[in-house]
Amino acid sequence: MSDKHIHLLSERVTNKIAAGEVVERPASVLKELVENSLDAGADQVDVEVVEGGRRVLTVADNGRGMNADDALMSIQRYATSKIGDVEDIESISTMGFRGEALAAISSVSRFKLTTRSEESDAGTEVVVSGGKVQDVQSAGCPLGTKIEVRNMFFNVPARRKFMRTARTEFTHVKQKFLVYALANPAVGMTLKSDERTVFSLTPGDGLEDRIGAIYGESLSSALRTVEHSYAGVNIRGYVALPRVARSDRSDQYIFINNRPATAPVLAYAIREGYHTLMPSGRHPVLFLFLQLDPGLVDVNVHPTKREVRFRRSNDVRDAMIGAIRKALETPSSAAPVPPREDGGHAAFGGLDKRSSIDIQDLPKAPVFQYPRMSMLDERPLQDRSATEISQGEGELETGADTPWARCRVLGQIGGLFVVLETEDGMVLMDPHAAHERVMFDKFMDQVVNGKVHSQGLLAPETLDMSPDNAAVIRKNEEVLKDLGFGISSFGGDSFIVDSVPSCIGEVSIAEVVENLAKAADRGGKASSAEHGARERIAMAACKAAVKAGDMLSLSEIEKLVVDLALTKMPYTCPHGRPTMIFMSFKELQKKFGRIN
Ligand code: ADP
Ligand code: MG
Repeated sequence: MSDKHIHLLSERVTNKIAAGEVVERPASVLKELVENSLDAGADQVDVEVVEGGRRVLTVADNGRGMNADDALMSIQRYATSKIGDVEDIESISTMGFRGEALAAISSVSRFKLTTRSEESDAGTEVVVSGGKVQDVQSAGCPLGTKIEVRNMFFNVPARRKFMRTARTEFTHVKQKFLVYALANPAVGMTLKSDERTVFSLTPGDGLEDRIGAIYGESLSSALRTVEHSYAGVNIRGYVALPRVARSDRSDQYIFINNRPATAPVLAYAIREGYHTLMPSGRHPVLFLFLQLDPGLVDVNVHPTKREVRFRRSNDVRDAMIGAIRKALETPSSAAPVPPREDGGHAAFGGLDKRSSIDIQDLPKAPVFQYPRMSMLDERPLQDRSATEISQGEGELETGADTPWARCRVLGQIGGLFVVLETEDGMVLMDPHAAHERVMFDKFMDQVVNGKVHSQGLLAPETLDMSPDNAAVIRKNEEVLKDLGFGISSFGGDSFIVDSVPSCIGEVSIAEVVENLAKAADRGGKASSAEHGARERIAMAACKAAVKAGDMLSLSEIEKLVVDLALTKMPYTCPHGRPTMIFMSFKELQKKFGRIN
């Protein structure tokens, strides 16, 4: 092919290119093979890997199998038994439908397919290597299909390099396996790794039993049943109480019409649903199944991505929030397992306590003295905002993955709360909590990256502390220094402070220590128990800094709104109080009796 004329690529080459899209690593091969097994009606699926799937990955099922012709057909690109025409794509109910997976997988591995359908006694074995059929013969085998994938990417060195260690690949394999095990409790599933049985899940379990078989009793006892319908969205499953929260989202399983799926709006709804129950940086465990009209879900955004789009995402969001809140608020008798010996109260206790703390902690009087703004701002556009991001008619844009893509600051009420209009409704924001969140994130970013800047005080401050508070300082002296507080002992319970972290501003260390001591006093509060000393001090510092309160102008409020939207955890302040309350136009219309 040295001449540069245009030519069509050979099928082998196009398969290899397509493989790059579908097959990323062993876990993605597992996904395709297990989905095929489920589509084939199997009620037993056995997965086995060697070296995390890098060396061997096998999926065997007892589904309907294939005859010899279909077996050969199945490894051709665009060969599928699942759709016949474009119209079918709209109403797809099986999981695979593009007819690409087997062609792709067999073009980048040493591949062996063994299968038998009911129509014949003899099965078929097809051996493919790097996309070339090596051997086809009849073979004795049980009803169903077994696919063995060896030496993934043996012929694509560039992709081979991207595979990680056997251990990492196995982590991904296991995660994928669990997704399908949870979505299909009626199907028996086993996972073996390097000869060791990791999971052996019996068929016919309900979801509850399956969760128990995978995660054990401690998680099961913290689950609440979810059963909720709203605007054509039906949600069922389980959510766990906040006490079993995780540090990442890996134990959040969401299925839309039985397919594992994610969507930014769902992440938002989970946050909002748990609201103040979840300390910042923690993520609830949940298993939720959403059913809605498939015509309202765009699933084929990308063949390997789980991200979906909803035609009516506000409905989905509100249904999720409602489902989670209802489940968490229901008395513990609704829990799937009977309450423990100490009664239902224990399971519910954590919840009760936190929400009462939150109410106490709400500011009783306005802390900020923001200037009041007129609801209609007549100023010319170029004067409106100091923020770079500001757009159009006073619109602020924050982009995807934030609570709102764009919004408009309408004004302030009660001398405190900021009112925003977003695409979906109205938001009331507590600037005090918002400011704390923004500052905390910025501060922690610097701390984590070792980039805390300290700012010298013009006049060093001498502190005469109470013995208790002095003890707090001594205990945390090292951490305080790491965080940019220049503090040294001045004999007895006195200290001298000559610098403070610059991103916090002129914060009074006496107040920081007060806040710290108070937080430590509350003891049981999850946020102080679970955060390290660094976080606690950073939280106390932000609280003190915000109380010091500057006057904020419109442009500063706009900046705050944008900064808040861009934080990792915009919905609560670092102490877990809400930063905003959202009311959708839908809700308003309902309240006014325009819709029901
Ligand atoms: P798709 O699943 O998108 O149709 P695949 O490449 O994954 O494409 O599979 C091609 C075809 O091979 C399927 O449509 C199905 O007819 C057949 N097939 C694949 N795996 C199995 C299996 N485990 N059992 C029965 N038939 C299968
Ligand atoms: Mg498939």
